[in-house]
Amino acid sequence: MPREELIRELLAARVEHARGQVMRLRGEIREVTLAHRDTPADDEHDPEGSTVTLERERAVALLAGVEAQLAELRDAQERLAHGTFGTCERCGQPVPAERLEVRPEARHCVTCAGIRARGH
Ligand SMILES: [Zn+2]
Repeated sequence: MPREELIRELLAARVEHARGQVMRLRGEIREVTLAHRDTPADDEHDPEGSTVTLERERAVALLAGVEAQLAELRDAQERLAHGTFGTCERCGQPVPAERLEVRPEARHCVTCAGIRARGH
């Protein structure tokens, strides 16, 4: 297990960053929605409406990604608080420190993450 202090700081910094992104994206979505509240919602025939929809959809998709990431980070903070951080959830082996320093939210060792990514 890498130095706990380092990981705690890494996670806190990433949570902070993700939170900022969530705020920014929510604001962006609200702005796009409000700015075009009075324009017709006929996306198929209104080229501008279509752009607005795409813009909003892109922001909503980004937001979903960042929120998922934020949940992972919070989970990692929980694991850190409960002393289960840094143990692979699949094989129970310690996750290498180098991996945790790059991806502190990682739940699996490199081998298990590879197996999972391939769908086994
Ligand atoms: Zn593993």
